[in-house]
Amino acid sequence: MAKHDVELLAVGAGPSNLALAVALEELAPGLARNSLIIEREREVSWQRGMLFPDSLSNTSFLKDLVTLRNPRSKFSFLNYLHATGRLDHFVNLGSWVPYRTEVADYLRWSAEQLSLVELQRGVALQDVRPVWTDGVLDGWTATLSGGRTVRSKYLVLGAGRDARVPHELRGIAPDRVIHSTEYMRRIGTLRRDHPYRVTVIGSGQSAAELFYSVHSDLPACRPTMVMRSVGLQTYETSKFTNELYYPSYVDRFHAARPEARGQILAEMHHTNYAGVAPGMMETLYRRLYQDRLAGTDRIELVTMHDVTAARDEADEVVLELTDRCTGATRELRTDLVLLGTGFEPRMPETVRRLANAVGQREVEVTRDYRLVVDAPATAACYLHGVNEATHGIADSLLALLASRANDILQDVLTLRQNAQVPAAAVAAG
Ligand SMILES: Cc1cc2nc3c(=O)[nH]c(=O)nc-3n(C[C@H](O)[C@H](O)[C@H](O)COP(=O)(O)OP(=O)(O)OC[C@H]3O[C@@H](n4cnc5c(N)ncnc54)[C@H](O)[C@@H]3O)c2cc1C
Repeated sequence: MAKHDVELLAVGAGPSNLALAVALEELAPGLARNSLIIEREREVSWQRGMLFPDSLSNTSFLKDLVTLRNPRSKFSFLNYLHATGRLDHFVNLGSWVPYRTEVADYLRWSAEQLSLVELQRGVALQDVRPVWTDGVLDGWTATLSGGRTVRSKYLVLGAGRDARVPHELRGIAPDRVIHSTEYMRRIGTLRRDHPYRVTVIGSGQSAAELFYSVHSDLPACRPTMVMRSVGLQTYETSKFTNELYYPSYVDRFHAARPEARGQILAEMHHTNYAGVAPGMMETLYRRLYQDRLAGTDRIELVTMHDVTAARDEADEVVLELTDRCTGATRELRTDLVLLGTGFEPRMPETVRRLANAVGQREVEVTRDYRLVVDAPATAACYLHGVNEATHGIADSLLALLASRANDILQDVLTLRQNAQVPAAAVAAG
């Protein structure tokens, strides 16, 4: 152990690694004392780019960092409400789903309650490399912002997914394109009363929220929403399909044949992606109705169109839209493009680089989220929230936080124990 600075390094203090930190403190205090989480932002929060005051989480407050694993935990959302004097109000509201800002505050509060795991804020992972000793992978060297390096035996990546920017828009001047993950930070830097022509791209919940919010954030703007689908649709929320978000469903999904996994993911797509919450649908439609009623024609919805090209021209962006029905193209001139295009489905770049560095062409994880390495290894790396293809639709969501943290921790504890046995046997021999 002496050659490692910490035993476990966790990257990103989002819900995934906070759930792991809680599990470490409750189940493995020794390892917790030798664990470090780094977070690139100065504050722990949640979905900073889309932290609108009216936005609700779509997940029960009982699917917090810990309750489904340990309902008696002091890190529960209910205990957060109690500790911050808001339990009566929340109970009286009669809602299963908290506001997004409330979830963010619960995560910040939980991070403050950690007493064994160290959390360093304002520290970003820049690069990570495997450490080999005599052909055995026995650690990781992480380079952090500022150039500092940290060596660890176990590495847990919980840094979220990469924002998806359609390739047609990658060459556009960055100050004219805002992905949803950056919306809150950047929208306030624009001239509030300027009559911007704004184009929102996408048709899911993020796009709908951007379209709604930009009306009030830039009150003089003229927003157009462009989507390739036939129109906005609500996401599906039946209690039957919601059973596929149970932690226990991960085993069934993981054991399924590839074609069955494909079918399940395709059928479940509308329960999470490309759909809008019913309340937001009603609000947006009323806004469109009022716009038509007033005859202002400020709002436009363009359905069944792809953005097939884009270019900067003088002080505007020219989007080429192709009608999926007719194949005809037309130009849409705009000042600002808002991307509600979600996240890259493939593995994040950091993960792909790391897998390549340990000689893996493909990124693959075990049932317990450990990166598969086809080489002798005593070190291990775990991946949170990027394993939908093998672990099911809930993988990137809050529903699995508590159980996944436990799965990862138990695997680490087993590896640690196994590592001690041969050492003891050798010493005894
Ligand atoms: C707008 C929005 C709303 C959502 N609402 C819901 C919902 O209601 N219910 C639900 O189940 N899911 C929801 N999700 C899905 C969401 O992905 C999960 O809820 C959850 O945030 C995943 O947690 P995570 O910790 O894996 O990743 P993240 O929440 O993305 O956290 C990753 C953390 O890592 C940090 N980080 C990134 N890179 C580095 C680096 N290089 N070094 C150090 N730190 C780094 C980030 O700053 C961040 O704090 C929503 C997603 C979005 C975008």
